Parts: sequence; C-alpha cells; structure tokens
Amino acid sequence: MTTQVETAVRGPEAYGLARRTISEMEQAGVWPTPLNFELWLHYLGDPEGPLGREIQRVLGAGEPFSESTAEMLAAEYLPRGRLSEEIRDAGVVLDRELRTVAEAIAAAHRTHADYGATLSDAGRDMTSAADPSRLKKIVTGLATATRKVQRETAGLEKRLDSSTREIARLREHLEQARRDAMTDALTNLANRKAFDEQLVRACVEAEAAERTMTLAVIDIDHFKRFNDTWGHQTGDQVLRYVASVLNRLARHPRVAARYGGEEFALIFPAENRLKVMEALDAARQEIGSRALRRRSTNDELGAITISAGLAQHRKGDTASTLLERADEALYASKRGGRNRITDADAVDSVAA
Ligand code: GH3
Ligand code: MG
Ligand code: MG
Repeated sequence: MTTQVETAVRGPEAYGLARRTISEMEQAGVWPTPLNFELWLHYLGDPEGPLGREIQRVLGAGEPFSESTAEMLAAEYLPRGRLSEEIRDAGVVLDRELRTVAEAIAAAHRTHADYGATLSDAGRDMTSAADPSRLKKIVTGLATATRKVQRETAGLEKRLDSSTREIARLREHLEQARRDAMTDALTNLANRKAFDEQLVRACVEAEAAERTMTLAVIDIDHFKRFNDTWGHQTGDQVLRYVASVLNRLARHPRVAARYGGEEFALIFPAENRLKVMEALDAARQEIGSRALRRRSTNDELGAITISAGLAQHRKGDTASTLLERADEALYASKRGGRNRITDADAVDSVAA
C-alpha cells in the first residue's frame, strides 16, 4: 500500500513554504518543473512523511533527481485525478449560479437601501405640509413598514449566504465524487467506465468529421509470472509506473486509461498512424529498457515489457468493433513474441 501525502497549501503560511521550496530546489540543483515543485512542496511541508523520507533517500544516495524519478515519486505518493470534461462543465455552471446568487443579494440590498432613503425624504417633505399631525402619522407608519422590510432583507441575505456556502460545499463533493467514479484508484488514470464513454464519443466524432482516430490497447507481458515472483504489492508499483509513462504520453487530446487488471488503453484523436506508432514505440522502449528495483529491499526485478495492438477507426466502426480489432492486433503481438506493437491493418492483410 502507498501512503499518499497532503500538505496545507492554502493559508497564510503557504507563501512562505512555497518560497522556501523554490530556494531549496535551487540549492539542490533540482529544476523547478511543475511536477518537481509539487513534490518538493509536499516534501518540505512534511519532511518526515513517506514522500519526504524517500526524497531524502534519493538525495542522500547522490542519485540525480531526474524526470523519471519525479514520475515514479508522483505515481506513488501524489494524489492525482483526471478531471473529465463534464466535471469542468459542471464547475462552470455552478460558478455561474454562485455569481448569480451573489449578484441577487447585492441587488436586493441596493433596492432596499434606496427604498429607505426615498421614504425618509418623503417624511421630511411631508412634515412641512398642511395638517402635520396627520401626515406625520402616515410617515411613521411607512417608516415602520420600511424597518420591517429591512429586517426581512437581512434575514434573506443570511439565508442566501448560507445557501451559497452550501452550494460551494456540494460542488466540492460532487467534483470529488465524479472524479472518483471516473478514476482508477491504483494508477489515477481514467478507469474503464470513463474510457468507454470517451471511446464512444471519439468514434462518433471521427465518423462525423470523417477523420481518423486510433485506439491502442496495451497489456503487460507475463505479468502473472512477475506477480508470482515478486508479490502483488510490487506488481502494483509496476502498474503505477507503467501508468505514469502512459500518462505522460497521453497529453490532451489523447486519453489514457487503465482498462482492467494489467491492461491499458489509449485514444489518439486525429493523428496519423506514423505518429501514433512512434509515440507507442517510445513508451514500449522506455518501459522495456528500465531496470526496476524494489524500493524497500533494493532487489533487482529486471525489466518488464508491454505489448500493444492498435486499430484505426474506419467508416461504420463502433466502439466495440474498433476494440475488437485492436484486441486482435494485441493478441498478434503476443503470439509474435511480445514486447511489440501490431497494427490491426497488418493483421487483416495477413488474414486476407
Ligand atoms: P501475457 O503476456 O500473455 O499477457 O501474460 P500475463 O501473465 O500478463 O497474462 P495473464 O492474463 O495470464 O495474467 C494477468 C495477470 O495480471 C494476473 C494477475 O496476477 C495480474 N494482475 C491483474 N490485475 C492486477 C493488479 O491489480 N495488481 C497486480 N499486482 N497484478 C494484477
Ligand atoms: Mg491481460
Ligand atoms: Mg498480460
């Protein structure tokens, strides 16, 4: 199990911590990339926490604080979630609602302030009019009514204030819940449910725009053997490592997901076959060339490899026909000896 970190990055002391983080990174010769900054912020916020101890170990051993070190640390210790498009949309809608409510409060306030001023002016004018005692009585009555309205307004403001806070709280819960529902807890990639939805959408878009889209399915080779040899927990760390490499590959508008067990899937909208192949092959080589070590015991675990299959969207393809062809290509990679990528079109032409 990993322990995830949380540092208080909101509050008056947070600026001091951020400044200290930058200066300590500079002293340690660590580049201020967003990811490094995030890691160091958590590290200095809690130097004796699990992430802090691990960073101290890396620094103490004189290991370079490289990009892949950062990726590994992030995959293991940082709580990550991918915000789906819908969640961002829901956020926009809620923000708009909150602004509307705040504006309504301000408007009601102004209206009633004006009302009060008008009445007191009228009161002043009327005292100089004929039959003052009678007029005065009317004005007193009006002033009483005004105070009542003002009291009611104050009550309304209070209620609106509290519902504003309530909406903000609900929004946070909603965002968290939706993020959790769409995210794989182990790797923090999109989960299968989220991916299936995106794939359907990507197919519809490719069909409508008459442009290409590629689906890739990826499976870790001989992973059962790895688990049997090194244990499930170490296997989990490897899943997180593979996920971190794929996540780096899957910059928007690409999408990466953990599709199940030791299987991953990627969508490449509007990219030609060559670029997709290059990107996947870079990931395959990076993963396969890395000598893994178990953190706790420093045991050499060797390298793991991945196999992939990819299929391009054709006219009439649905998410499931596309998946079927990508899967066939993946199995061709497995049959062909693993640690390779197969294009479904190559499989089709061999079969034909
Ligand atoms: P192949 O190269 O043909 O894909 O062989 P494989 O052993 O990877 O495939 P197989 O489908 O036989 O086994 C998949 C293994 O993946 C079984 C299980 O040990 C492992 N696995 C699946 N999900 C998880 C997980 O969440 N954590 C860990 N540690 N292992 C998992
Ligand atoms: Mg599998
Ligand atoms: Mg496998």
